[in-house]
Parts: sequence; C-alpha cells; structure tokens
Amino acid sequence: MIEFEDVTKRYPDGTVAVDRLSLRIPSNEITVFVGPSGCGKTTSLRMINRTIERTGGRITIDGEDINAKDPVVLRRGIGYVIQHAGLFPHRTVVDNVATVPKLLGWDKKRTRDVAMELLERVGLDPKLAQRYPAQLSGGQQQRVGVARALAADPEIMLMDEPFSAVDPIVRHQLQEELLRLQRDIGKTIVFVTHDIDEAIKLGDNVAVLRVGGKLAQFAPPAELLAN
Ligand code: ADP
Ligand code: ADP
Repeated sequence: MIEFEDVTKRYPDGTVAVDRLSLRIPSNEITVFVGPSGCGKTTSLRMINRTIERTGGRITIDGEDINAKDPVVLRRGIGYVIQHAGLFPHRTVVDNVATVPKLLGWDKKRTRDVAMELLERVGLDPKLAQRYPAQLSGGQQQRVGVARALAADPEIMLMDEPFSAVDPIVRHQLQEELLRLQRDIGKTIVFVTHDIDEAIKLGDNVAVLRVGGKLAQFAPPAELLAN
C-alpha cells in the first residue's frame, strides 16, 4: 500500500500544486488520479518516485517513509510510463526494453528472453523487436514503453497519461490490454488521466482532484457515479 498523509507540494515560486492530500493506494489494484489540467496529478504521481520532492506531509510504501530510502533503490521498484513513450531513439525496441536488466547486470540470454517475453505480453509483434522507435506507430511505442517499465519487475507502476497521444481506437485497445495485463501480473498501478471515462473504465479506485491540488473524492467508480 502507498499512503499519502497530508502531502503538500509547494513549488519554489509559491505555487501550491498539491494541498494536504491524504489517501491510501491499495496494492495490486489500479488507482486513477483524475481532474482538470493543473490540478496536481503529475506532481502527485512524481512525488511517489521522488522525481519531485514533497514539501510537506509523508508518503509511505508498506509503512516505510519513501524519504528513508535511497532514491535510486526506490525507483528500481517503480516503473514509470509517460505520454510520449520516451524511448531511446538510437536503441532498437528490444534494447530499449533491456535497458534496466542490462544496468542490473543480467546475462545476455536472460535479458533478451525477458525482453522478448515482455514484448509479447504487451501485444507487440516480435517481428518489430529489431526496429527503432521512429519506425513504430504511436500505439506500438507506448506498448514498448510499458514493456520497458515492467522489465525490472517493479511492484509499482506509475503511468502518466500513457494513452492520451494515440488515436481513440488504439487507446481503447491499450486500455483493454492494461486491464488484462493487470489481471495477469497484479501490479500496483497509479494512473493519471484528465479523461473521466478512462478513469472510470480503468480504476479500481478513482481520486478526483480539483485545481489547487485538493482531493474532491476518492472512491470506486460505481460510488463516484452514484454521487
Ligand atoms: P496536472 O498534472 O494535473 O496537469 P501538475 O501537477 O502538472 O498538474 O501541476 C500542478 C500545478 O503546479 C499547476 O498549477 C502547474 O502550473 C504547477 N507547476 C507544475 N510544475 C511546476 C514548477 N516546476 N514550478 C512551478 N509551478 C509548477
Ligand atoms: P498509428 O496510427 O498507430 O500512429 P502509423 O500510421 O504511425 O500508426 O503506423 C502504421 C504502421 O506503419 C505501423 O505498423 C508501423 O509499424 C508502421 N510504420 C510507421 N512508421 C514507420 C517507419 N518509419 N518505418 C517502417 N514502418 C513504419
């Protein structure tokens, strides 16, 4: 479980992006942060892997304050997927996925096997493994981004508008595949979107933020709809 206790982020210019946010993100479920542009979704997400440092309150993972951990060790257990997959342009698809296993010093065969298995899991045709990112469609690049984030077998996946830049049909496929993947491998997924329909479709729980970084609601989709 990831717990936010009275978490605040005040940027150096005085902007309060997240204001005393408290919520519990259960393990092995999908929790979605939704709300209008500027309501603090990305800031909330990035405080979990400490690519943004909180300025108040506490964030714990399984009871341990994340600030007590070495950020490098913390991030090894947390996959991160962003809107434009952020792939390394000069590495092939399979080498992109193998980035972290290589850093961890896995042997070549194991690294390749794991990378190919992950590509299959995210629904990418293995024939594309030797291509470069620019030779893939937007949807295919996002699949590679998800596979790369899964490569170190993290317990937690942070996903920041991962499907917003692809066309509606591909987005629908990627959403279905994420739900299937999550059923298969049971990660703790924290997912950011500005799209309420996507939040309702994907979330086991939905945190609705409003501008100023305050929590408006936190509930399973069925309860949100009832209100
Ligand atoms: P969202 O992801 O919901 O669009 P963000 O977390 O990106 O929102 O931003 C929340 C608020 O913090 C916005 O008002 C944004 O302009 C502000 N903000 C984001 N990054 C910075 C920064 N580095 N310095 C100052 N203000 C920032
Ligand atoms: P999308 O609508 O998902 O963005 P694209 O029109 O970009 O799809 O790509 C359609 C197909 O063409 C995909 O299967 C992709 O692999 C292939 N493709 C796109 N760009 C290139 C390229 N530069 N070289 C080879 N194949 C490409």
